[in-house]
Amino acid sequence: MLSTHQRDFSAPIDRTKLERLAETAIKVGLRLQPGQDLYLTASVAALPLARAIADEAYKAGAGLVTPIFSDEEIALSRFRFAADASFDRAPGWLYEGVAKAFDANTARLAIVGEDPMLLAEADPAKVARANKANSIAYQPALEKIAGFDINWNIVAYPSASWAKRVFPGEEDDVAVGKLAEAIFAASRVDNDDPIAAWTAHNSALRRRTEWLNGKKFRALHYSGPGTDLTIGLADGHDWQGGSATAKNGIACNPNIPTEEVFTTPHARRVEGHVVSTKPLSYQGTLIEGIAVRFEAGHIVEAKAKRGEEVLKKVLDTDEGAGRLGEVALVPHSSPISKSGLMFFNTLFDENAACHIAVGQCYAKCFVDGDKLTTEEIATRGGNKSMIHIDWMIGSERIDIDGLDANSDRTPVFRKGEWA
Ligand code: ZN
Ligand code: ZN
Repeated sequence: MLSTHQRDFSAPIDRTKLERLAETAIKVGLRLQPGQDLYLTASVAALPLARAIADEAYKAGAGLVTPIFSDEEIALSRFRFAADASFDRAPGWLYEGVAKAFDANTARLAIVGEDPMLLAEADPAKVARANKANSIAYQPALEKIAGFDINWNIVAYPSASWAKRVFPGEEDDVAVGKLAEAIFAASRVDNDDPIAAWTAHNSALRRRTEWLNGKKFRALHYSGPGTDLTIGLADGHDWQGGSATAKNGIACNPNIPTEEVFTTPHARRVEGHVVSTKPLSYQGTLIEGIAVRFEAGHIVEAKAKRGEEVLKKVLDTDEGAGRLGEVALVPHSSPISKSGLMFFNTLFDENAACHIAVGQCYAKCFVDGDKLTTEEIATRGGNKSMIHIDWMIGSERIDIDGLDANSDRTPVFRKGEWA
């Protein structure tokens, strides 16, 4: 008998929409340029989408598509059988190569869709060590992603193991079919012209960022059940959303789907307390019921109803891991939120609610961000860390005010919607 990880589950997935998703990833997500190389990561479960993406990439004139595949069974094998010393290891040689590829203007596409609770049964201490080793090794490549050196994009594929988490009551193939449709709808490929749909969506997001950038708020104040939080914004911060231009000059949509507008908070000017409103799935561990308190930008108290040990280890990764690197606004009425689904995947769940991220900031979220040095970004309040983890703090009960230089208040969100 084949396990969930081994059987081919592509049958219930609409082929036309899958091909549209591949085309959207290449033409909207990456805007891959003729002659440009592509580095592609995916799970073996996502082979049908990876192959469709390779077709679209070469049709668009790709130089070379290099796929690197992962496998859930092999990931679990490590936690079952590996010697203790294995958990401090990571393929640094691979990430150094990836960083070199980015230096040579290679685009990056990640297909996500792993089982969000793959490592739920594994020893949390080993998971934390493996995560830390990986974060350290990944740093040279992550810096170039976070610094937006090259065009990159993330899309999702409905693996059976993920689909069963989202639709636990369904037969495997029914769950895959349902998750596929949810991914296609959220990714705006459930219509005949996804490219036009993305053009319209990008301009709607641009109207929001232009309004926020005109306001130049000093801070945002959040209030709601369990939450009274003031997030100072970085000096010279810039709100972004939808399509953005990488340092290599290519305008792309890094996340498909995306509903957020986001900017860089001030790493040393966050005060108050906040609770998470949705579970966070972090590298195979589900972290739920997060409650943290900030003082001078740093998390000084952290609790979680589930996964607290992993959360605390994550916040301890380095000095910046307990400080904010992103603040993002998403209306409660976003299509992903309206689907009512909990995806247990940040790419989707972060687009269902307002969120914050601890860890590394996005250098591009500054006025003239591409010209700033690492020191200038830090001086303006940009955070630096090996990690970047989004978690959801928005709901229909959250109000947000913008505070200007005189601390005058402008309503930004009321009951989870744009005011
Ligand atoms: Zn975000
Ligand atoms: Zn983020």
